[in-house]
Amino acid sequence: MSRDEFFGTIKGVIVITLAMMAGGYTLTTIMLVFTDFKDAGLHYALSTIFPVILTPIGTFPLLVMAHRLRIMKNELEALLRLDGLTELPNRRAFFELAEKAFRREGTVTMMMIDIDHFKQVNDTYGHDIGDRVLRSVAQSIQHIVGATGGSGVKFAARIGGEEFATLVEGLNPETAGRLANDLVEQIARLPVSGDGQMLSVTVSIGVAHRRAGDTPSVVMRAADNACYRAKRLGRNQWRDADADADADAAPAVAVQSAA
Ligand code: GH3
Ligand code: MG
Ligand code: MG
Repeated sequence: MSRDEFFGTIKGVIVITLAMMAGGYTLTTIMLVFTDFKDAGLHYALSTIFPVILTPIGTFPLLVMAHRLRIMKNELEALLRLDGLTELPNRRAFFELAEKAFRREGTVTMMMIDIDHFKQVNDTYGHDIGDRVLRSVAQSIQHIVGATGGSGVKFAARIGGEEFATLVEGLNPETAGRLANDLVEQIARLPVSGDGQMLSVTVSIGVAHRRAGDTPSVVMRAADNACYRAKRLGRNQWRDADADADADAAPAVAVQSAA
Protein backbone atom coordinates (compact mmCIF):
# COMPACT_ATOMS: atom_id res chain seq x y z
CA MET A 1 0.00 0.00 0.00
CA SER A 2 1.45 3.35 -0.99
CA ARG A 3 1.78 6.24 1.47
CA ASP A 4 -1.12 8.11 -0.20
CA GLU A 5 -3.35 5.05 -0.12
CA PHE A 6 -2.49 4.38 3.54
CA PHE A 7 -3.41 7.92 4.55
CA GLY A 8 -6.54 7.68 2.37
CA THR A 9 -7.57 4.57 4.33
CA ILE A 10 -6.87 6.30 7.67
CA LYS A 11 -8.97 9.25 6.49
CA GLY A 12 -11.81 6.84 5.65
CA VAL A 13 -11.64 5.32 9.16
CA ILE A 14 -11.66 8.78 10.79
CA VAL A 15 -14.67 9.89 8.71
CA ILE A 16 -16.66 6.76 9.67
CA THR A 17 -15.66 7.17 13.36
CA LEU A 18 -16.77 10.82 13.38
CA ALA A 19 -20.02 9.87 11.65
CA MET A 20 -20.73 7.22 14.33
CA MET A 21 -19.91 9.71 17.10
CA ALA A 22 -22.19 12.31 15.53
CA GLY A 23 -24.95 9.67 15.35
CA GLY A 24 -24.47 8.79 19.05
CA TYR A 25 -24.50 12.47 20.13
CA THR A 26 -27.60 13.20 18.05
CA LEU A 27 -29.47 10.23 19.52
CA THR A 28 -28.45 11.18 23.07
CA THR A 29 -29.52 14.80 22.49
CA ILE A 30 -32.90 13.75 21.05
CA MET A 31 -33.53 11.52 24.07
CA LEU A 32 -32.44 14.32 26.37
CA VAL A 33 -34.86 16.79 24.80
CA PHE A 34 -37.90 14.54 24.37
CA THR A 35 -37.67 12.18 27.39
CA ASP A 36 -36.76 12.52 31.04
CA PHE A 37 -33.53 10.85 30.16
CA LYS A 38 -30.88 10.64 32.87
CA ASP A 39 -27.16 10.01 32.64
CA ALA A 40 -26.70 12.07 29.50
CA GLY A 41 -23.03 12.57 30.43
CA LEU A 42 -22.44 8.83 30.50
CA HIS A 43 -24.16 8.38 27.12
CA TYR A 44 -22.14 11.19 25.54
CA ALA A 45 -19.01 9.50 26.88
CA LEU A 46 -20.09 6.12 25.51
CA SER A 47 -20.96 7.74 22.15
CA THR A 48 -17.35 8.84 22.02
CA ILE A 49 -15.56 5.80 23.40
CA PHE A 50 -17.35 3.08 21.42
CA PRO A 51 -16.85 4.58 17.93
CA VAL A 52 -13.25 5.50 18.71
CA ILE A 53 -12.41 1.92 19.77
CA LEU A 54 -14.74 -0.22 17.67
CA THR A 55 -14.91 1.62 14.33
CA PRO A 56 -11.21 1.32 13.45
CA ILE A 57 -11.24 -2.37 14.47
CA GLY A 58 -14.32 -3.04 12.31
CA THR A 59 -13.64 -0.85 9.30
CA PHE A 60 -9.88 -0.96 8.78
CA PRO A 61 -9.86 -4.58 7.46
CA LEU A 62 -12.82 -3.75 5.20
CA LEU A 63 -11.08 -0.67 3.81
CA VAL A 64 -7.88 -2.65 3.22
CA MET A 65 -9.91 -5.32 1.41
CA ALA A 66 -11.66 -2.66 -0.72
CA HIS A 67 -8.23 -1.25 -1.57
CA ARG A 68 -6.97 -4.71 -2.65
CA LEU A 69 -10.08 -5.24 -4.78
CA ARG A 70 -9.47 -1.89 -6.46
CA ILE A 71 -5.89 -2.95 -7.30
CA MET A 72 -7.11 -6.30 -8.69
CA LYS A 73 -9.73 -4.50 -10.82
CA ASN A 74 -7.06 -2.19 -12.26
CA GLU A 75 -4.78 -5.16 -13.00
CA LEU A 76 -7.64 -7.03 -14.65
CA GLU A 77 -8.51 -4.02 -16.79
CA ALA A 78 -4.87 -3.69 -17.85
CA LEU A 79 -4.79 -7.40 -18.78
CA LEU A 80 -7.94 -6.98 -20.87
CA ARG A 81 -6.03 -4.51 -23.01
CA LEU A 82 -2.80 -6.45 -23.34
CA ASP A 83 -1.76 -9.10 -25.84
CA GLY A 84 -0.38 -11.96 -23.75
CA LEU A 85 2.15 -13.20 -26.32
CA THR A 86 3.82 -9.97 -27.40
CA GLU A 87 2.86 -7.76 -24.41
CA LEU A 88 1.79 -5.09 -26.86
CA PRO A 89 -1.61 -3.42 -26.48
CA ASN A 90 -4.33 -5.54 -28.09
CA ARG A 91 -7.02 -4.64 -30.63
CA ARG A 92 -9.38 -3.30 -27.96
CA ALA A 93 -6.68 -1.03 -26.49
CA PHE A 94 -5.66 0.11 -29.96
CA PHE A 95 -9.12 1.34 -30.85
CA GLU A 96 -9.65 2.94 -27.44
CA LEU A 97 -6.38 4.88 -27.83
CA ALA A 98 -7.26 5.68 -31.44
CA GLU A 99 -10.66 7.11 -30.41
CA LYS A 100 -8.82 9.46 -28.04
CA ALA A 101 -6.30 10.49 -30.70
CA PHE A 102 -9.11 11.17 -33.17
CA ARG A 103 -10.67 13.67 -30.75
CA ARG A 104 -7.51 15.80 -30.99
CA GLU A 105 -6.55 18.14 -33.83
CA GLY A 106 -3.66 17.42 -36.18
CA THR A 107 -2.61 14.66 -38.48
CA VAL A 108 -3.08 11.01 -37.55
CA THR A 109 -1.45 8.22 -39.53
CA MET A 110 -2.41 4.59 -39.13
CA MET A 111 -0.54 1.60 -40.47
CA MET A 112 -1.60 -1.99 -40.90
CA ILE A 113 1.40 -4.32 -40.73
CA ASP A 114 0.94 -7.94 -41.78
CA ILE A 115 3.71 -10.57 -41.67
CA ASP A 116 4.25 -12.16 -45.08
CA HIS A 117 3.63 -15.88 -45.55
CA PHE A 118 3.52 -16.39 -41.81
CA LYS A 119 1.60 -19.63 -42.16
CA GLN A 120 4.69 -21.07 -43.88
CA VAL A 121 6.82 -20.16 -40.84
CA ASN A 122 4.46 -22.15 -38.62
CA ASP A 123 4.24 -25.01 -41.09
CA THR A 124 8.02 -25.20 -41.56
CA TYR A 125 9.36 -24.47 -38.08
CA GLY A 126 6.39 -25.06 -35.78
CA HIS A 127 4.23 -22.77 -33.63
CA ASP A 128 6.89 -22.07 -30.99
CA ILE A 129 9.21 -20.53 -33.56
CA GLY A 130 6.17 -18.77 -35.05
CA ASP A 131 5.49 -17.26 -31.63
CA ARG A 132 9.13 -16.21 -31.37
CA VAL A 133 8.85 -14.45 -34.72
CA LEU A 134 5.70 -12.66 -33.55
CA ARG A 135 7.45 -11.43 -30.38
CA SER A 136 10.49 -10.33 -32.36
CA VAL A 137 8.45 -8.43 -34.95
CA ALA A 138 6.34 -6.87 -32.18
CA GLN A 139 9.43 -5.62 -30.32
CA SER A 140 10.90 -4.26 -33.50
CA ILE A 141 7.71 -2.39 -34.46
CA GLN A 142 7.43 -0.92 -30.98
CA HIS A 143 11.04 0.17 -31.01
CA ILE A 144 10.90 1.77 -34.47
CA VAL A 145 7.57 3.52 -33.86
CA GLY A 146 8.75 4.70 -30.45
CA ALA A 147 11.86 6.22 -32.01
CA THR A 148 9.86 8.26 -34.56
CA GLY A 149 10.34 11.98 -34.16
CA GLY A 150 7.66 14.37 -32.98
CA SER A 151 5.98 14.89 -29.66
CA GLY A 152 2.58 13.47 -30.59
CA VAL A 153 1.12 10.20 -29.43
CA LYS A 154 2.54 7.07 -31.06
CA PHE A 155 1.81 3.46 -30.31
CA ALA A 156 1.73 -0.02 -31.79
CA ALA A 157 -0.60 -2.92 -31.08
CA ARG A 158 -1.16 -6.53 -32.07
CA ILE A 159 -4.62 -6.46 -33.52
CA GLY A 160 -4.86 -10.02 -34.85
CA GLY A 161 -2.85 -13.24 -35.32
CA GLU A 162 0.09 -11.93 -37.38
CA GLU A 163 -1.28 -8.43 -37.83
CA PHE A 164 -0.09 -5.30 -36.10
CA ALA A 165 -1.27 -1.71 -36.27
CA THR A 166 0.36 1.57 -35.41
CA LEU A 167 -0.96 5.06 -34.86
CA VAL A 168 1.31 8.08 -34.98
CA GLU A 169 0.28 11.73 -34.64
CA GLY A 170 1.96 14.64 -36.39
CA LEU A 171 3.42 12.91 -39.45
CA ASN A 172 3.11 14.27 -42.98
CA PRO A 173 2.84 11.87 -45.94
CA GLU A 174 6.61 12.05 -46.44
CA THR A 175 7.62 11.29 -42.85
CA ALA A 176 4.91 8.62 -42.66
CA GLY A 177 6.42 7.01 -45.75
CA ARG A 178 9.86 7.13 -44.18
CA LEU A 179 8.54 5.38 -41.08
CA ALA A 180 6.81 2.71 -43.16
CA ASN A 181 10.01 2.21 -45.13
CA ASP A 182 12.06 1.87 -41.93
CA LEU A 183 9.63 -0.75 -40.66
CA VAL A 184 9.79 -2.78 -43.87
CA GLU A 185 13.59 -2.57 -44.09
CA GLN A 186 14.42 -3.19 -40.46
CA ILE A 187 12.02 -6.10 -40.04
CA ALA A 188 13.49 -7.75 -43.16
CA ARG A 189 16.87 -7.58 -41.38
CA LEU A 190 15.61 -8.99 -38.07
CA PRO A 191 17.85 -11.77 -36.82
CA VAL A 192 15.36 -14.54 -36.00
CA SER A 193 16.62 -18.09 -35.77
CA GLY A 194 14.65 -21.27 -36.27
CA ASP A 195 16.06 -24.78 -36.25
CA GLY A 196 19.59 -23.36 -36.14
CA GLN A 197 19.20 -21.30 -39.30
CA MET A 198 18.26 -17.66 -39.81
CA LEU A 199 14.68 -17.05 -40.91
CA SER A 200 13.67 -14.48 -43.45
CA VAL A 201 10.78 -12.43 -42.04
CA THR A 202 9.15 -9.69 -44.07
CA VAL A 203 6.05 -7.56 -43.70
CA SER A 204 3.61 -5.75 -45.96
CA ILE A 205 2.31 -2.41 -44.75
CA GLY A 206 -0.68 -0.24 -45.62
CA VAL A 207 -0.50 3.43 -44.64
CA ALA A 208 -3.59 5.66 -44.29
CA HIS A 209 -4.13 9.20 -43.05
CA ARG A 210 -7.12 10.56 -41.15
CA ARG A 211 -9.33 12.99 -43.09
CA ALA A 212 -11.94 15.30 -41.60
CA GLY A 213 -14.86 13.28 -40.27
CA ASP A 214 -13.10 9.91 -40.43
CA THR A 215 -13.47 7.41 -37.60
CA PRO A 216 -10.61 5.07 -36.57
CA SER A 217 -12.28 2.12 -38.29
CA VAL A 218 -12.58 4.03 -41.58
CA VAL A 219 -8.86 4.86 -41.55
CA MET A 220 -8.02 1.31 -40.46
CA ARG A 221 -10.01 -0.07 -43.40
CA ALA A 222 -8.10 2.21 -45.79
CA ALA A 223 -4.80 1.00 -44.26
CA ASP A 224 -5.98 -2.59 -44.55
CA ASN A 225 -6.83 -2.12 -48.25
CA ALA A 226 -3.43 -0.51 -48.87
CA CYS A 227 -1.77 -3.45 -47.09
CA TYR A 228 -3.69 -5.84 -49.29
CA ARG A 229 -2.36 -3.96 -52.32
CA ALA A 230 1.20 -4.25 -50.99
CA LYS A 231 0.63 -8.02 -50.76
CA ARG A 232 -0.67 -8.22 -54.31
CA LEU A 233 2.28 -6.24 -55.61
CA GLY A 234 4.79 -8.72 -54.21
CA ARG A 235 4.93 -8.23 -50.38
CA ASN A 236 7.91 -6.87 -48.38
CA GLN A 237 6.83 -3.30 -49.20
CA TRP A 238 4.45 -0.55 -48.12
CA ARG A 239 1.65 1.25 -49.92
CA ASP A 240 -0.01 4.56 -49.10
CA ALA A 241 -3.81 4.54 -49.35
CA ASP A 242 -3.84 8.09 -50.75
CA ALA A 243 -1.18 7.41 -53.36
CA ASP A 244 -3.17 4.42 -54.56
CA ALA A 245 -6.58 6.06 -54.39
CA ASP A 246 -6.89 6.57 -58.11
CA ALA A 247 -4.04 4.45 -59.41
CA ASP A 248 -4.53 0.91 -58.31
CA ALA A 249 -2.00 -0.30 -60.82
CA ALA A 250 0.69 2.20 -59.77
CA PRO A 251 4.15 0.70 -59.39
CA ALA A 252 4.92 -0.66 -55.95
CA VAL A 253 6.97 1.44 -53.54
CA ALA A 254 9.73 -1.11 -53.58
CA VAL A 255 12.23 -1.30 -50.78
CA GLN A 256 15.89 -1.43 -51.67
CA SER A 257 16.58 -4.37 -49.42
CA ALA A 258 13.65 -6.38 -50.80
CA ALA A 259 14.56 -10.04 -51.04
P1 GH3 B 1 0.07 -13.41 -46.26
O1 GH3 B 1 1.45 -13.15 -46.73
O2 GH3 B 1 -0.91 -13.36 -47.37
O3 GH3 B 1 -0.33 -12.56 -45.10
O4 GH3 B 1 0.04 -14.94 -45.77
P2 GH3 B 1 0.04 -15.48 -44.28
O5 GH3 B 1 0.48 -16.91 -44.34
O6 GH3 B 1 0.83 -14.58 -43.41
O7 GH3 B 1 -1.47 -15.32 -43.88
P3 GH3 B 1 -2.53 -16.36 -43.42
O8 GH3 B 1 -3.73 -15.56 -43.00
O9 GH3 B 1 -2.75 -17.42 -44.46
O10 GH3 B 1 -1.92 -17.07 -42.15
C1 GH3 B 1 -1.76 -16.44 -40.93
C2 GH3 B 1 -1.22 -17.46 -39.97
O11 GH3 B 1 -0.94 -16.89 -38.71
C3 GH3 B 1 -2.17 -18.61 -39.71
C4 GH3 B 1 -2.10 -18.81 -38.20
O12 GH3 B 1 -1.85 -20.13 -37.86
C5 GH3 B 1 -0.96 -17.93 -37.76
N1 GH3 B 1 -1.14 -17.42 -36.42
C6 GH3 B 1 -2.11 -16.61 -35.96
N2 GH3 B 1 -1.93 -16.34 -34.66
C7 GH3 B 1 -0.80 -17.00 -34.28
C8 GH3 B 1 -0.09 -17.11 -33.04
O13 GH3 B 1 -0.45 -16.53 -32.00
N3 GH3 B 1 1.03 -17.87 -33.02
C9 GH3 B 1 1.48 -18.54 -34.15
N4 GH3 B 1 2.58 -19.25 -34.07
N5 GH3 B 1 0.81 -18.45 -35.32
C10 GH3 B 1 -0.31 -17.69 -35.39
MG1 MG C 1 -3.16 -11.53 -42.01
MG1 MG D 1 0.23 -12.52 -43.16
